[in-house]
Amino acid sequence: MSGSPERTAWFNGDFLPESAVRIPFRDRGFIHGDGVFDTARTFRGRIHKLEEHVARLYRSMAYLKLDCGLAPEQLISISRELVARNEPLRGAEGDWWVTQRVTRGVPAEGADDRAGSDRPTIIVECTPLPLARRAPLFRDGIDVVIPWVRRTPPESLSPRAKTQNYLNLALGQLEASAQAPEAWAVLLDLEGNLTEGIGCNVFLVIDGRLKTPRAQKVLPGITRETVMELAAELGIAVEETDLDPYDALTAEEGFLTSTSLCLCPIRSIDGRPLGGGKLPGTVTERLTRAFSESVQFDFVGQYLSHLAA
Ligand code: PLP
Repeated sequence: MSGSPERTAWFNGDFLPESAVRIPFRDRGFIHGDGVFDTARTFRGRIHKLEEHVARLYRSMAYLKLDCGLAPEQLISISRELVARNEPLRGAEGDWWVTQRVTRGVPAEGADDRAGSDRPTIIVECTPLPLARRAPLFRDGIDVVIPWVRRTPPESLSPRAKTQNYLNLALGQLEASAQAPEAWAVLLDLEGNLTEGIGCNVFLVIDGRLKTPRAQKVLPGITRETVMELAAELGIAVEETDLDPYDALTAEEGFLTSTSLCLCPIRSIDGRPLGGGKLPGTVTERLTRAFSESVQFDFVGQYLSHLAA
């Protein structure tokens, strides 16, 4: 299918045109959000840190007591083959999100559906990154809104697992979007400390030190980890700690990290410009440069090249 204008996905053992992938409506991933996923990205078609993403997927599966029946190496090689098959459709300036999803599947007819199913649904797919849509964020910075809805506490559902259930984050984002359509939500935990947004971790620079919420309260982002490593290499002090809205509103700089964004400066929090409004801040700029060098790719340039003329 590689010459076809339609993308290919891998579904329960087969490479298929995306339109041939039919998820049954009784799938527990659809009914209860009973599943996990992980998403890597490509840089010029090269998948970045795929092994790390797949390892996190297996930790998420372990948390949900899900067994996909494949070894991590198999999912890695399926993902690589998928990207190779879709390469003719990538476009010179484009890149992919590469996602593996595993749900508990469809319970056998007559089975007690509280118990789940032993026939998981597995899908691996590529989606073009929304580079044009997000390009203005790299020119202007991200406006963050802190919504009223609080992040699900780890005692109820650990945010460290990347599950198919994003309702809590989606509610937070709805609230932020109602205030400012382009804003990104960063939710507080029950104690009033910053956690994360629907697909991103948050960093603040306070007194020249880089600070980010503790790993127990957020998804341990692969990008978050890379940024902390790069900061340490650059001699920038890094701390995982509680950060409340006072910290956010008085920080010198801030940025969000995610697989697709890499890192992107925050322009404002709850309508207040951060750190005097100079973008990107010095620490953010140093880390952005270090990140680009580490992946040998100018991700900011790629986003900016998609700005509408
Ligand atoms: N937090 C949440 C809830 C996410 O969904 C994501 C995206 O995967 C992140 C943080 C950022 O993690 P990563 O850098 O691995 O993409």
